[in-house]
Amino acid sequence: MSEPTLNKPIPEITDMTRPFWEAAKRQQLLLQKCQHCNTFNFLPKPWCIECGSRELVWTEAKPFGTVYSFTVSRSVAMNFPGWKDDLPVIMCLIDLDDGARMYAQVTGCSTEEVSIGMRVKVYFEDISDALAIPKFSPV
Ligand SMILES: [Zn+2]
Repeated sequence: MSEPTLNKPIPEITDMTRPFWEAAKRQQLLLQKCQHCNTFNFLPKPWCIECGSRELVWTEAKPFGTVYSFTVSRSVAMNFPGWKDDLPVIMCLIDLDDGARMYAQVTGCSTEEVSIGMRVKVYFEDISDALAIPKFSPV
């Protein structure tokens, strides 16, 4: 996270994460896949979280996942008032069908409807001309 533009935190793009964000802007979920053990890695890293190999290739992951855990935010940090209109915000840990675990917002269901084990699909919300954020909604 970096400057509070748009009154919301925006992703800090580095050389390590740039392919992920460029793909997100194209509505594509692109993750590093290990060429030795086939593990999908997230967050982007210089080496595989399973086997340590540095042979990671950016690969399109299946857009589906399952809610592993979730929390509901009902208030916002004072420096990010842009979240206010979105409250309550459902934040989930999502186990992608391809194995990686992502932290993301889930929309399209109420705080009563979200549940552990719920099936979700990624979509990408444009937040600027250059950036889109992956979010999930129930399948
Ligand atoms: Zn590996």
